[in-house]
Amino acid sequence: MNSSENLLPKQDIHRRIIHLDMDAFYASVEMRDNPNLKTKALVVAHDPRKYNGHGVITTANYIARRYGVGSAMPAIEAVRKIPPDKLVFVEPNFKKYRAVSQQVHEIMHEVTDIVEPISLDEAYLDVTKNKLGSYTALELGNYMQAEIYKRTGLTSSFGATYNKFLAKMASEYAKPFGKTIILPEEAIDFLARQDIKKFPGVGKKTQNSLRELGINTGKDLQNKSVEFLIKKFKKWGYSLAMHSRGIDLSPVEGDRTRKSIGKERTFEPSIFDQQQALTNLRKYSSEVSDILIEKNLSAKCIVLKIRDSDFHTITRRRMLKKATSNEKIIFQEVRDLFLTLPEFLNKGIRLLGVSTTNLEQTHYAEVDLFDTL
Ligand SMILES: [Mg+2]
Repeated sequence: MNSSENLLPKQDIHRRIIHLDMDAFYASVEMRDNPNLKTKALVVAHDPRKYNGHGVITTANYIARRYGVGSAMPAIEAVRKIPPDKLVFVEPNFKKYRAVSQQVHEIMHEVTDIVEPISLDEAYLDVTKNKLGSYTALELGNYMQAEIYKRTGLTSSFGATYNKFLAKMASEYAKPFGKTIILPEEAIDFLARQDIKKFPGVGKKTQNSLRELGINTGKDLQNKSVEFLIKKFKKWGYSLAMHSRGIDLSPVEGDRTRKSIGKERTFEPSIFDQQQALTNLRKYSSEVSDILIEKNLSAKCIVLKIRDSDFHTITRRRMLKKATSNEKIIFQEVRDLFLTLPEFLNKGIRLLGVSTTNLEQTHYAEVDLFDTL
């Protein structure tokens, strides 16, 4: 191993993360409600023959997929590829899909409240601690798969392992009605055998530039030094380096995960002095910075909240080019925002608050990595 491996953060392998994904969701709902469709090549989309050739495929069932038809393709492709006596278009009915999705979410919340929905039909769950008191993610995945089938008549697949991206690759590994468990000691080998197109964020274009360099599999990525990948592909190379080595620190953003971190205080009597207001804002900026650093987070958006004696409240926000946890930068932004609102000092300030949103995980190695290499 090359010394540039040190540029990567250390992975915690003790979390238990599940990625749960409904199989061909919209198409499966339609086949459940109209069994005649089960023997057809079903495409859920506007029929392009009635819409001037327009329409995009939301989901295709597995029969249609055998003809090379899939999600996000123009619907007209289905007309070209599938024999007319086999092909059926069904208009998407999102109201119905949302109702089923709701049922699925109820089942997931029987296991944990740390559920991060990705779309109507897939979600990440952190089951390290869970409501059923189970020690194995396999048991929990089985529970959800069985309950979903019992209550909705639909099949799903899941992957379970120690981080998010790997859990997603695992759930896709054995669809439909699949289950894939990847133990920490198996991750490197599993990833080595994957084609690069299976890695998150690797689209057609990026695939081509990788293949030109002779990088076709996870193994090829593992054999390239971290330094090489960063030099070639910057930030994206860094994430490829992490993924090929099985590293992903991102938390499952449950409904209760904090989406913002802030400090505020009300004043009685109100503040009329600019210096006093700024002193308080500096203090809150510093406290917010401390919390961000402690939680290993950086914020891309800084928010000032201010209320006058008439209980008129406003918030002003500023987006940063680069996420930060630095108290000086946070205060600087808050101060600039504050100075654009002189009218509040005339009326007296009753509340001041500093908060940060658009939070992201801070990567240790990221600090100046992309400039120095
Ligand atoms: Mg799905």
